[in-house]
Amino acid sequence: MRERWDAIVIGAGIGGLTAAAHLVHAGLRVLVLERSPHIGGTAYVYRRKGFAFPMGPLGFSHPVLVQNTLRALGVEKDLKFSRVHYRLRAFGFDMPLSLPFSELIKELSKSFPADAAGIEHFFRDIRRHLFKQGSGSNWSGFGQKPKLSASEYLQHLIKDWRLRRILGSIGTREPYSGLPILAAMWNLMSNEGIWFPEGGMDSFCEGIATAVVGKNERSGEIRLNQGVAKIRTDRRKVLGVILKDGTELDSSSVISNADYKTTFLHLIDPNSIPPEWYEAVSCARQTGSVFQVCLGVDAGKADLSVFKEASKLIYRKEGQKVSEIKDLDWKVQEIDPEALAGQELEVSLWGKDWEAISSDGRAALVIRAEAEYKHFARYRLGWRQRSPNYLEYKTRLARALIQEIDHLMPDLEKSILVMDVATPLTFEDQGGRSEGAVAG
Ligand SMILES: Cc1cc2nc3c(=O)[nH]c(=O)nc-3n(C[C@H](O)[C@H](O)[C@H](O)COP(=O)(O)OP(=O)(O)OC[C@H]3O[C@@H](n4cnc5c(N)ncnc54)[C@H](O)[C@@H]3O)c2cc1C
Repeated sequence: MRERWDAIVIGAGIGGLTAAAHLVHAGLRVLVLERSPHIGGTAYVYRRKGFAFPMGPLGFSHPVLVQNTLRALGVEKDLKFSRVHYRLRAFGFDMPLSLPFSELIKELSKSFPADAAGIEHFFRDIRRHLFKQGSGSNWSGFGQKPKLSASEYLQHLIKDWRLRRILGSIGTREPYSGLPILAAMWNLMSNEGIWFPEGGMDSFCEGIATAVVGKNERSGEIRLNQGVAKIRTDRRKVLGVILKDGTELDSSSVISNADYKTTFLHLIDPNSIPPEWYEAVSCARQTGSVFQVCLGVDAGKADLSVFKEASKLIYRKEGQKVSEIKDLDWKVQEIDPEALAGQELEVSLWGKDWEAISSDGRAALVIRAEAEYKHFARYRLGWRQRSPNYLEYKTRLARALIQEIDHLMPDLEKSILVMDVATPLTFEDQGGRSEGAVAG
């Protein structure tokens, strides 16, 4: 007899586990199927020689929502969060970023006195936009043209090109988003904050998993190493799933936590969804991914003083002229490692208050640069399989980033105990999201 479940959830990432836990809490029998050997998906934390490194998030926003979710599901775990503070180390500045708007305005105006009025104006617009957003109005708050890009808007408002980048990207990049997203990003950075769970990044997923598995026979079950090949449908009705090994399972409710490309382009029969959905999903672009160097260091040898006021630094090599600051051309066969090291880098002392990774004189550092999936895709032979020169290439790139960060942390190289390098291919295969996309 085939197994029958009230609901089947594909994927044991944060989203899948949370959905499953709510359904179990409502009294349903729920099966979670995960193709990886672990839960967590993109929020998975992996271990190398005693160090823990992130497969995705370095922190969460909205800790109260996380806490309330756990409480609503009856999870006893009481997660505590500590704020992750950000600093900018670029363009000759060393300044805090994660300050309330009023303090940020003062700080930025000290560094850019000629643009003080523009800075005031910018944050006034951001505040008005956030207020209107909260009240459900679609008023844009940014002058007459709601469709104005952040770049166009700042071009009119701010004289100094460095400040346009700082305000427009919360970093050193050319503004890349629309204004509503920029307002939301500044709100997260300054008001809501980014937070790290003190029990470690994986404690949230573990907490939710306990709510799925529960204590009685009506609880759910999580099966690892169980990839779903297809969602079974009959016209537009869901019947269940087929696993990669051919096993068929029945359920009239299937919830996919796989990313939208995987779900709509691979798991569902195209005939069972409206053609315009299929078209829209095919054409939609994934967000970018990252190149990541994780370092387990001997804290006795490494100079960690650069993280005294903030555990996360937005860094760019000093002394670059505006004409030299260019985006990388990812279409070339191999990126010049120096050019990658000249891009904006995010340098984090990861989980500094998390005993598991920052005790016994050890510390975990994470260096990230934006990276394009397509550039690395030619090294991909299959799921978790790479061509032979992949390792040498990614190590060469990683070395250049480490040498660059040596400017912030002298003698960094001598303190390294473990190095692990991830590319968009890693985020795709180990985290589980198409093209290793940072956002879904
Ligand atoms: C490099 C990087 C940095 C990030 N940084 C941050 C951050 O700082 N802060 C933040 O809030 N967010 C961050 N994010 C985003 C955050 O990690 C994700 O939004 C969140 O973890 C996504 O959870 P999810 O459950 O929606 O999906 P996922 O975590 O992608 O889970 C999907 C799950 O489905 C499984 N799956 C897929 N297909 C199948 C199948 N056919 N059969 C069975 N299982 C399947 C996958 O293996 C995976 O476990 C980052 C992401 C990345 C990649």
